[in-house]
Amino acid sequence: MSKVMLITGASRGIGAATARLAAQQGYQVCISYRQQQETAERLVQEIEREGGRALAVAADVADEAQVVRLFEALDQKFGRLDVLVNNAGMLEQQMRLEDMDAARLARVFAVNVTGSFICAREAVKRMSRRHGGDGGAIVNVSSVASRLGAPGEYVDYAAAKGAIDSMTLGLAKEVAAEGIRVNAVRPGVIHTDIHASGGEPNRVERVKASVPMGRGGEAEEVARAILWLCGDEASYVSAALLDVTGGR
Ligand code: NAD
Repeated sequence: MSKVMLITGASRGIGAATARLAAQQGYQVCISYRQQQETAERLVQEIEREGGRALAVAADVADEAQVVRLFEALDQKFGRLDVLVNNAGMLEQQMRLEDMDAARLARVFAVNVTGSFICAREAVKRMSRRHGGDGGAIVNVSSVASRLGAPGEYVDYAAAKGAIDSMTLGLAKEVAAEGIRVNAVRPGVIHTDIHASGGEPNRVERVKASVPMGRGGEAEEVARAILWLCGDEASYVSAALLDVTGGR
């Protein structure tokens, strides 16, 4: 039986690219999305047309009950889980810290941090040898913002991604003996729709001057790093924070 991968926020961007590549590499994929049902269903059909097996499930990762239901739907369809990609993430309009209120901070942390934590918890319950699982891998999609800090733009988002880095290191050690590897990718500036939420759809064009390789990245380039971390070629890699930034 081929391995099962769950990717959150997978209807578009880095998540969708990861789902496509995973299916091409023989994974069965569970595409979790928040709102874009039509796009997610189209992706499932695309994967099935190519001979793969996929399922789309709606879930807001910030809502614990929805996450629990997501994992139950996955159990029903696939009966196992080998890889979790905690990809769902968001940022809000660019602003300086003194203009941010606590409600914004709570929203940003709820999706990026709480969402990743509760999905990891549900995944560990299924993968852990202690619970009768076969082990597995978790990849958290962090951001280079966790070490650059995003000053004047998104220090809240950078702090949330910093929390994801810390969780990656701690959880990797906590579950290593149970056969689970936990790593993170930290993308730099990548061509996706996320920049529109920050109020700067063309952000990649502005920021690329600070990228040593002189260009923004593509979602597929991040997906390839994620797939490598998930797979057997990375069998001795855990607690790693892998920058995918064009050298930034
Ligand atoms: P994107 O906006 O295209 O994708 C983000 C996905 O997360 C979307 O499908 C969105 O619907 C989903 N999402 C948002 N809130 C959610 C919620 N509450 N529940 C479930 N899903 C939710 O952008 P992307 O660039 O593909 O982002 C993917 C990941 O990469 C994010 O974690 C983001 O922070 C990270 N990242 C992106 C960049 C970049 O430059 N694009 C850089 C560093 C890190």
